[in-house]
Amino acid sequence: MVAGLYGAAGPQRVSFDLEPAEVRWRLRRQGADVEIAIYRFPDMSTSWDTPDAEGTRCWNSTQPRAVLSHAVVEAAETVLRLHGEAGYRKKWIEHSFPVAALDGLRQLHRRNDECRHENCQVSTDS
Ligand SMILES: [Zn+2]
Repeated sequence: MVAGLYGAAGPQRVSFDLEPAEVRWRLRRQGADVEIAIYRFPDMSTSWDTPDAEGTRCWNSTQPRAVLSHAVVEAAETVLRLHGEAGYRKKWIEHSFPVAALDGLRQLHRRNDECRHENCQVSTDS
């Protein structure tokens, strides 16, 4: 999802199922920055194909892409370290931890944003 921000892709969306509510993140690239908007819908069973504008926008912010990517890598690392990959899988049974996506994002971030932070140097499969 966030890795799409390094290509020519359009807005990227990801939804979180909070039973019954849906929380939807929309990331939109604006030059070197990324606009993040978070929408909330009362019922995921009906909102999954609903346009963003019909939800309640609860937060939005524009951040440099390097800062956002770094925050995502760090947050993902924290979750992995806390639960381990197996623990994560147990917790969110049908959504195993997106290790490949995390590695892909980290590589793009390291290459394009020249980040030297230790979390951005390691590879998850090591
Ligand atoms: Zn970084």
